[in-house]
Amino acid sequence: MFILLYNLYMERLNFDAIIIGGGPAGITAGIYLKRAGKNVAILEGEMFGGQVATTSLVENYPGVGKIDGSSLALNMMADIKQSGATIIYENATKLHLEGEIKQVETKNYILEAKTVILAMGVRPRQINSELEKKFIGKGVSYCATCDGALYKNKDVAVIGGGNSAFIDAKYLSGVAKSVTLVHRSEKYRVSENVVEETKNLGVKLLPNYVLTNLVGENHLEKVVLKNTISGKEEELEVSGLFIAAGRVPNTELVAGVLNLDDNGFIISQDCKTNIDGVFACGDIRTKELRQIVTATSDGAICATLATFYLNRR
Ligand code: NAP
Repeated sequence: MFILLYNLYMERLNFDAIIIGGGPAGITAGIYLKRAGKNVAILEGEMFGGQVATTSLVENYPGVGKIDGSSLALNMMADIKQSGATIIYENATKLHLEGEIKQVETKNYILEAKTVILAMGVRPRQINSELEKKFIGKGVSYCATCDGALYKNKDVAVIGGGNSAFIDAKYLSGVAKSVTLVHRSEKYRVSENVVEETKNLGVKLLPNYVLTNLVGENHLEKVVLKNTISGKEEELEVSGLFIAAGRVPNTELVAGVLNLDDNGFIISQDCKTNIDGVFACGDIRTKELRQIVTATSDGAICATLATFYLNRR
């Protein structure tokens, strides 16, 4: 009864297409759908631009030269606003994707459309959420470009062995007194050039160590690391710990409804999901390469397929 009354008070809006997520993929999908003359809503509950907005420097997106991520994100936000898409600054809380008319619920709205484009992206992976949560905002961070300035002339560590970890370590080497890059093995997911370049910036590499504890009164003071070969524990005094251990997809809302792979990414062929009229684009779907350029490409493909789908109805 309560749910029924609550739903009656929520505003109902109808669209041709609803896009969930305002990163490069979702924004591109919105621009393409508007150009195809469709009535589109795009939902973004946090920050337009997604991960781009917190990237220090983008150097591999053609036409914009070297640009800081927040500027590129602002440009993209301006583009989606100019497209005329309806912007809803709320997160989706519930999805009903089966059937001809799909429904997306947010805090204040019930949105309906014939097509839904999922572009919710990914979020940083936590290594040990119980340990980390005590120090989030008090020494533990998942975004070097957002929080790096807080560690001017301080000792910091980065955890991870992929592109993000190396980018973060390089960025922090320009701010912090010392940067130690801790990785659980000695196999890095970046080229030898990147490893050398990072070492040359003064970053100390610490392979074969895992995090076992975080220590501090009101703020992080040191981390405890275990050597994976000797099994011995050692302490490293740092006031900042930047975790760059990969990303997990934001697919909780579609679990059990859409086909997901073992890591939770939406299985999709050419951005199509297992439900007619539901498309997935950007980092949230299974793909070989997660980059801005592949996200915008996905957005264009999704929008075009969604347009064909709508035109057939
Ligand atoms: P990633 O490539 O998946 O690397 C994650 C790293 O974290 C790996 O080294 C992994 O170790 C480590 N890791 C994962 N779980 C861990 C745990 N529980 N404890 C300790 N370490 C853990 O993630 P990413 O660096 O975020 O990059 C994601 C994708 O975006 C990649 O395809 C990457 O190339 C791309 N990317 C591109 C750019 C660019 O080109 N400008 C920038 C950033 C990211 P193992 O190696 O042992 O698994």
